[in-house]
Amino acid sequence: MTTSKFLIFMLVAVFLVGIFAVAGCAPEEAVPEEPDVEEPEDEEPEVDEPGAVTRVNMGAGWVTGVYYPLAGAMSRIAHTSIDDISLTVESSGASAVNSRMIGSMDLDMAIVQNDVAYYAFHGEGAAFEGNPIENMRGMFSLYPEPVQLVAAAGSGIESPADLAGKNVALGPLGSGAEVNALQVLEAAGLSEDDLASAERLEAGEAADFLRDGRIDAAFFTVGIGASVIDELSVMTDIYLVNIVGDIAETLINTYPFYASVTIPGDAYTDVPEAETISVLSIIVTREDMDADLVYNFMRGIFDNIQVIHDAHDVGQLVTLDTALDGMSVPLHPGAERFFEEEGMM
Ligand code: GLU
Repeated sequence: MTTSKFLIFMLVAVFLVGIFAVAGCAPEEAVPEEPDVEEPEDEEPEVDEPGAVTRVNMGAGWVTGVYYPLAGAMSRIAHTSIDDISLTVESSGASAVNSRMIGSMDLDMAIVQNDVAYYAFHGEGAAFEGNPIENMRGMFSLYPEPVQLVAAAGSGIESPADLAGKNVALGPLGSGAEVNALQVLEAAGLSEDDLASAERLEAGEAADFLRDGRIDAAFFTVGIGASVIDELSVMTDIYLVNIVGDIAETLINTYPFYASVTIPGDAYTDVPEAETISVLSIIVTREDMDADLVYNFMRGIFDNIQVIHDAHDVGQLVTLDTALDGMSVPLHPGAERFFEEEGMM
C-alpha cells in the first residue's frame, strides 16, 4: 500500500467509525438484551425470604360442577386471609385425571371422589390397575356426591337396566362419574357393548347432547344442585332415574364407598325426588408438600368457612364436624396436626 492509499484508507476508517458511533449501529446488536438477562438474579434471593408467597395449584373439576366454584372460593380465602399462599384453580375432567396429576406432580392439591382416591392410592380398578398413586395424602372431606343418572322425558328409562340399547353419556374422560357409571352398568348386568352408544363428553357438552336429543341419558356424579343439571332442567324436560333395589344393594355391598341418598324434589326445576347412591368428595395433596403449608391452608379455610358456605348451596355441607368423614387415603402430616389440635383424633 502506498502512503497516499494508506492515508485514504485511514480517513475512510475513521469516518466509518464516526458514523457507527453517532448512529449507534455497531453496538445495537449486543446491547438491548443484556439488562433484562440480569434482572431475575436480583429477584431470586427473595424467594427464600420469610413471607414469600408459595403458589399452590388445585385440580378442580367441571366448570359446571361443584368442585370448581368451591375451589374458587378457597382461592379467594387464600387471597384475603391466608398469609403466603396463593391458590390457582384448574378445571379438569375431575377425579381420575386429578389423581394421576397428583402422581405426576403436576398438581399440588386436588378435589376428588373418595372412592376414586382409594382406587388410585391402592392401584385398583381399570383406571389405576398396576399404577398406584402412592404419594396421595388426605386433607379433609367436603360433601356427598350422588350418582345422578339424568334421563330425557319420554326415554322410558325406569332403571339402569333400561339403558340397554340407549345412547348414554358415561361421564367426562378421566372423571369419577365415568368410574361410577361403569360400576352401575355392571351391577345392572350390562356392559358398554349393550348400549347403542357410550359417549365420554365434557359435562356441559353431555347436557347439550341431552337437550338436543342426541343422547337419552347421562351420568353425573356431582353435588346436588350443580349448574350442569340445574340449567338443563330449566331448558329441557328431564328426570332422575332411581338407582335402588338389587342394583343399589349390589353396588353398596361391592363398593364400600356407596351409601343410599335421596335427591329432594326441589333440587332442580320440575325434577321429581329420586333415590340413588352417593360417594363423598375430599381434598387430597402430595406427600412431599410442606406440613406447615398444608396446616396453614386448612386453618385458613376452616376459619373462613362462611365463604365456602356462600359460594354454593352444597358448600354449606362442608363443616369441621364432617371433615374426617369417608377419608379414604392416609392423612398428610399437616392435616393430622390440624385435626389433633381440633381434638378430632
Ligand atoms: N365428581 C365428579 C367427578 O370426579 C366431578 C364433579 C364436579 O366437578 O363438581 O367425576
